[in-house]
Amino acid sequence: MNPLEEIQAYRDELVRIRHDLHAHPETAFEEVRSAALVADTLESLGIETHRGIARTGVVGVLRAGRGTRAIGLRADMDALPMTEANTFAHRSTVPGKMHGCGHDGHTAMLLGAARYLAAHPDFDGTVHFIFQPAEEGEGGGRLMVEEGLFQRFPMDAVYGMHNIPGMPAGTFGVMPGPMMASFDLLDIEVRGQGGHAAFPHAANDPVLAGSALVCALQGIVSRRVSPLDSAVVSITTFHAGETHNVIPPSARLSGTVRVFKDEVRDAVEADIRRICEGVAHTHGVGIELRYDRRYPPTINTEAEAALARDAAVALVGSSRVLTQAQALMAAEDFAFMLQARPGAYVWIGNGEGREGGCMVHNPHYDFNDAILPLGSAYWVSLVRTALPRAGLEQGSSS
Ligand SMILES: [Zn+2]
Ligand SMILES: [Zn+2]
Repeated sequence: MNPLEEIQAYRDELVRIRHDLHAHPETAFEEVRSAALVADTLESLGIETHRGIARTGVVGVLRAGRGTRAIGLRADMDALPMTEANTFAHRSTVPGKMHGCGHDGHTAMLLGAARYLAAHPDFDGTVHFIFQPAEEGEGGGRLMVEEGLFQRFPMDAVYGMHNIPGMPAGTFGVMPGPMMASFDLLDIEVRGQGGHAAFPHAANDPVLAGSALVCALQGIVSRRVSPLDSAVVSITTFHAGETHNVIPPSARLSGTVRVFKDEVRDAVEADIRRICEGVAHTHGVGIELRYDRRYPPTINTEAEAALARDAAVALVGSSRVLTQAQALMAAEDFAFMLQARPGAYVWIGNGEGREGGCMVHNPHYDFNDAILPLGSAYWVSLVRTALPRAGLEQGSSS
């Protein structure tokens, strides 16, 4: 039986959970209320529950049959430090915090799958329900890995899912290889010598040096990275000076770098360092660079991407599963889990136009409740595909 039908029957409960989380957003490592809701729900389903992993993370363990294979299904629980502009009843009740990326929906979908699988353990092996904190910029996924997630809960593979506004509801996207880019931060300080603007020869202008630096850095993607690879170097802030007639003593710049391959990441960082040194020399200023590697690229392994595709196809048919989509230059800390174990990260369509709302991280964004049961059903289909019970065809049990 297709799990979707039965999960649709408790759609209202999933919506209630999702709206509750949405109204009470919690940001990185403060997901105390959300984690308690998750853990209490898992326990009420009779699922072995472990709290306090990577501070506010939760892992549920469900075993069936005698198989030794094990997989992990991961959802993120954190909200963003931004002010919600929506006015609907379930809008944020916390000033300056908002579920602007749909992690409320991700958490509700995985709880929906846990409910179904606890009632229908028609698989062979162990399923780990991983609810992680601090996906947005703070690397909760990395901390889970560092705290021994995969040693404490051995798994052969790990799977993730994110909603994508603009992709039709009822569709999925999954490819082998890169799904999301790496995410690094740059902070640069240019130190010159301040002075009277009418006597520039007596000063050493950090604004001119900083401007030359911005232009030179833009040559990396166009001239240094292979045209067949992708990279972004964006300088997004440039602060210097206070008034018209004073050359300031320093300038501060910041920005971000995104790539899909580790070797391109290494080369871009080396180029940025070299260009900073060169511009400093040319302009006779001091340039200090802080290059902060945050998230690696999110890379699906081939076999697991095929398995995730099959699980989605079993649910919605091959015409509604994109396998040739373009990777996104956004980043995802599920990448740390994929560095540790094989696995696959899939996109689920949040809907087009009005139905799917605006892009994530927009103050008007909201997760589309209509896809909650489908997301839960995908996890169920994935478990049946990855951990098939002998004698049971995928999707044939009720
Ligand atoms: Zn986000
Ligand atoms: Zn997100």
